[in-house]
Amino acid sequence: MRKVMKFGGTSVGSAEAMARTADIVLSYDCQRAVVVSAMAGVTNSLIEVMGEGRREVQEYLGWLRQRHLDVAMKGVSKELMPDYLEQLEHRLSGLGHLIHLYRQDEDRIMYQDAVSSWGERLSSLTLAFILRSRGADAVALTSEEAGIAATGPPGNGSAVLPATEANLKRTVVPLLREGKVPIMTGYYGVDDRGRPLTFGRGGSDYSAAVIGYGVDADAVEIWTDVDGFMSADPRVVKGARTITEMDYEEAAELAYFGAKVLHPRTIEPAKRKGVVVTVKNTFNPSGQGTRIHRLSRSSDDLLRSVALKTGLAIVKVYSSEVVYQPELVARVLEAISADGTTVYAVSTSLSTLAVAVPSASVEDVCARLKGFREQVEAITVKEDVALICAVGDGMLERCGVSAKIFAAVADVGANVELISEGASDIALNFMVGGSKAIEVVRRLHELYISK
Ligand code: ADP
Ligand code: ASP
Ligand code: MG
Repeated sequence: MRKVMKFGGTSVGSAEAMARTADIVLSYDCQRAVVVSAMAGVTNSLIEVMGEGRREVQEYLGWLRQRHLDVAMKGVSKELMPDYLEQLEHRLSGLGHLIHLYRQDEDRIMYQDAVSSWGERLSSLTLAFILRSRGADAVALTSEEAGIAATGPPGNGSAVLPATEANLKRTVVPLLREGKVPIMTGYYGVDDRGRPLTFGRGGSDYSAAVIGYGVDADAVEIWTDVDGFMSADPRVVKGARTITEMDYEEAAELAYFGAKVLHPRTIEPAKRKGVVVTVKNTFNPSGQGTRIHRLSRSSDDLLRSVALKTGLAIVKVYSSEVVYQPELVARVLEAISADGTTVYAVSTSLSTLAVAVPSASVEDVCARLKGFREQVEAITVKEDVALICAVGDGMLERCGVSAKIFAAVADVGANVELISEGASDIALNFMVGGSKAIEVVRRLHELYISK
């Protein structure tokens, strides 16, 4: 048995959580590679330090040092402490140097991913020393050392699977065979020039799946702060339940459309090799959690789970030529999605093309659409809309499902702004105003999941 165990920010976020994480790693004796996120809040702080606030570098490094020391004091043995302190200082000074470069340089994008990936280097080092203090043969390994090859735009990279697999067979597999426990940095890989490239926020889940693919793991375990993949975000719906078995497609749809418990791309590499992904709670390890794998029929319930994605806007492009010029739709969409802007839904009519994009991209999208002055009569933007993704097994084969779902929307007095149905057999996506979105999710859950 060989597995990859990934621990998220909360699971390494305090001395107590780190001790639980170490307990869990030590409770197995199979071959295991551990992947960690930065301690909770650290990635946000790294992104902030690059922002306008201009926190003084030494003061910031002092804060980071203290956060890690608070954990290490309770978990690292006296014998190993000097070695830990030396390596922690080395990593902190590397970060200080990078922040200086970032602040001086014109081409800041070059350093952005390096700075934001730094938290994982500190948490992995700390967990490795805690495990060594408890007798495990743990070794901290960065994505550079392991050879996680990545490509794509800054802040939104993807792993290059064949190259990563070849590297991991050389770097990590021999360690596993020798009984060592590699403690690896999640969240980023290395581009073809050797520079860190992050996989997007929450990307450590994807790192774990990529590593699972590369080392031919039998299982990838995502250890987090809730009891598995649930029927809704438990922060939004109090009665949300753990889904014990889930199909790859269901998890992928929900993750893409807002279920933060998994990074949207986690399923891809796992599915390719048929690796089972398990979601478990670090704070309740005996709980069953969720097993995500290939299922022929997952359930007879109308709905399995509902996800919510906020912070979106609908951009509508009006042109009487839309229907007569099929290539216009393609070109407009290309312009909208340039620069890596994600289009979450598309809908067309005789003379309109409506797309859902992140609010943060609206300004750039509208600027790019100015290039269509000749063909486009008007552009409107509806801000503050949310996308709701309702997933049920074979949902669209069932008669009357849409009517039931929209009845729930009407119950709370929400207005459907855009619908995307039929593209997937298991999901129905629609958008409502941001202020009503939570109510809609709760009502859907109440009517069709927690009956
Ligand atoms: P980690 O730091 O372990 O990666 P995240 O905060 O990224 O944890 O993801 C876990 C959080 O995802 C939970 O605390 C929960 O609020 C949220 N979440 C959203 N949708 C779901 C869902 N369907 N099931 C479980 N958790 C969900
Ligand atoms: N630390 C990164 C983030 O906060 C990656 C992760 O937690 O998965 O986005
Ligand atoms: Mg996460």
